[in-house]
Parts: sequence; structure tokens; C-alpha cells
Amino acid sequence: MSGIPDLAAIEAMDAADVLRPMRDRFVLPEGLIYLDGNSLGVASAAAYGELDKAARDEWGHGLIRSWNTAGWFDMPVELGDQIGRLIGAAPGQTVVTDTTSINVYKALHAAMGLRPGRNVIVAEGGSFPTDLYMAEGVASTRPGAVLRLEGVDAPAIEELIDDSVAVVLVNHVNYKSGELRDMKALTKRAHDVGALVVWDLCHTAGALPVDLDGANADFAVGCTYKYINGGPGAPAFIYVATRHLAEARQPLSGWWGHARPFAFEQGYAGDPGIRRFQCGTQGILSMRALKGALDTWKDVDMQALRKKSIALTDLFIHLVEAKCAGFGLKLESPRDGNKRGSQVSFEHENAYAIMQALIERGVIGDFRAPATIRFGFTPLYIGFKDVWNAVAVLEDILRSRAWQDPRFAVRSAVT
Ligand SMILES: *Cc1c(COP(=O)(O)O)cnc(C)c1O
Repeated sequence: MSGIPDLAAIEAMDAADVLRPMRDRFVLPEGLIYLDGNSLGVASAAAYGELDKAARDEWGHGLIRSWNTAGWFDMPVELGDQIGRLIGAAPGQTVVTDTTSINVYKALHAAMGLRPGRNVIVAEGGSFPTDLYMAEGVASTRPGAVLRLEGVDAPAIEELIDDSVAVVLVNHVNYKSGELRDMKALTKRAHDVGALVVWDLCHTAGALPVDLDGANADFAVGCTYKYINGGPGAPAFIYVATRHLAEARQPLSGWWGHARPFAFEQGYAGDPGIRRFQCGTQGILSMRALKGALDTWKDVDMQALRKKSIALTDLFIHLVEAKCAGFGLKLESPRDGNKRGSQVSFEHENAYAIMQALIERGVIGDFRAPATIRFGFTPLYIGFKDVWNAVAVLEDILRSRAWQDPRFAVRSAVT
């Protein structure tokens, strides 16, 4: 892109946007530019509709009967298959359940069990912290298990993968920088030495097309409250490749993973399929909001989504660098759109205060310690003019030094 596009050019981009009609299905508060769908996606009319129906009719009137009559019991696997379309997983390999943290634990533990002679878990030092905390938890249950970290034990993850490695735990897109890993190449690198891979898709599910089956992936986990727009604390998902389903064992052997949960037998006998990766009773109201969100996804062309995501993030980088030059912002995300998720991060020594000033002016992104301002671009409801307007506010905050107001230095618990 050369030169700064004018407003007419930006409006033409919105007019030509094939995903533009999707925006009307979402609940976008007046006066906000919401660039934080990578932390919590926005509500939709479909999610409200499902929540209302589940609460009033199914819970209110159907009561206990609704486990059967409203399909509550099978919902985790049905929604799992719908997510499968977004992540390149054929049916029967994905179940919606628990949280990403818990699913990391289950997947890592199962992978270690499939590689009994090996005791190394490889992960990224720059991973989303909960993944590492859970890896520590898994290692603590396996005598002799060790963690090798990219950025600590070697600069690149590939250098850490040898035939002592049981499993590699890796974020498909880094939560902070937005860097996108090559799933196929890294999976192959691990398989070449007999290791397995757990992919964390929190920042790719619903953000870009993923092809787990095509990459010959082993396990994957991810959340649904970010780009998928399932709602705050919506249940996560776990994927286990068909070829591992017979052998893989997960440690949280609760009754929902049992082959016959309502036989009330003594002794655990795991379901032969993906249901085994469930543990206990699921939060049905949360799951119903997610069902609404996933209904919206049925009409989305993932290639068009990716194309728009790259165009939005390219435009943002271009405008920020053109209009906010000289104010100390440094691009932290890959410049090449093909190597980037659907977010853009900049470093700045006053990142926290700048983000608070932006939020007060109605541009919501987030801050990640120690010095990152992060902006998520969700192609379903963000347009090119939103990008233009957000950069204008950022430019004004930097030029006027509005962020220097002391109230913007006060830290909240959740950033
Ligand atoms: C958001 C995120 C999580 C969140 O885990 P929860 O169990 O839902 O709190 C985990 N991993 C990554 C990479 C994330 O981005």
C-alpha cells in the first residue's frame, strides 16, 4: 500500500466487503469501536435468542426432560462438529467442554500416555501463561518429566524437538505478538522424531481457516469466547485425531466421559469416541449462547474471512505508521499478513496509559504486560472505517499527550 488512503477510498472498501452484512447480526454498542474481539467476542441476536429459549422454555418449562427433549445431552458433540468446520476437523473428533486450561491438561496428559518411554514436554516460553502452568501440573504427576522451553532452552522451538520428546505444546497464534506458526511444518517436524503435538487454537479458531486434519494434527484445544463470540466464559473445545481415539486416555475420568453414564456402574469404562474427553455436567446456558454464535458461522466463507482479516490489519499497520510516526510506537506483530493472526500489537513504553486513554475515547483494545497495546480485528463485525476512526483517535491521543493524565496510570485487576 502506498500513500495514505482517503476517506472515500476507505468507504469504497466497506462497500465492496462481502462480509459487511454479517455486522447487522451483532450487538455493537453505539459509539464504540471494539477492537478486543480477540479477548471477548461481541454478543449476537442469535446468541440472545438461544439463551432466551433455553432459559424460558427448556429450563423453565421442560425442566429435567430437556436433557433429552431439547438435546442438551448431545450438545457438546454436536457443537464440537460445528466447530470442526472452522478448524478443519472431520466430525467425531471435537467436543465442546470445560475450559481451555482444563483441556490443555487433558490433551497433554493423554499425549504423554501415548509416548510412555519419553519424558520431555516442549513448549514456548512466550506461550499464553495458563498453557505453561498446566504443563507444569501435568509434569508434576509424571516422575522424571521435564519441560523444555523455547526462548529459554533454545531460541527456536524446532531445536528442542528430538526423540526424547513426548509432546510439543504450541500456540497457533501467539497471544501477544500475533505471530502465526506453520501448523503443517511443525507437526511434521515433531512426527519425524515420533513426538506428538497439542495445538492451542485460542487465537485462530474463528479468526482464520485452520486445517487440523490436513496438517495431520494429533490434539488441539481452544476457546470459544474470543473470535467465535460464544460469550464470557463460554465452554472450550478439544480435538483428538481419529487415529488416537482408541488409545488416548484423559486423566479426568468423570461420568460424562463414561461409555454408559446412566448405567451407574462401578468402575470407569471410557466412551470409545470423543465423548471420553468430557468430564462432568456441562454449563448448558453457556453452551446455548455458543450454539447461537455457531449458527451465525454457518454462513461464513472462511477464505473471505481471512482475506478481510489481512486487509483490515494491513490497513491498521499502514495508517498507524503513517499518521503516528515519531511517537515511539514499534510494530510487534509480523509485517507479512500471511504470518499474522487477526490482531496487531505495538510496543510503547507508556502502553498501559495509552490504552486507557483510548478506551475512554471509545476505542477498546487491550494492554498486555509489560509494554504492548493489542488490537483485535474480527472480520465479522469490524469494518475499514472503524480502522480509520480508531487510528484517528490514537493519533489525537499521542499528539495531544492526553494519555499523560495521571488517572490513566491507575491499574485495574483485569487488563
Ligand atoms: C485465552 C487463552 C486461554 C484461556 O484459557 P481459559 O482456560 O479459557 O482461561 C488459554 N490459552 C491461550 C493461548 C489463550 O489465548
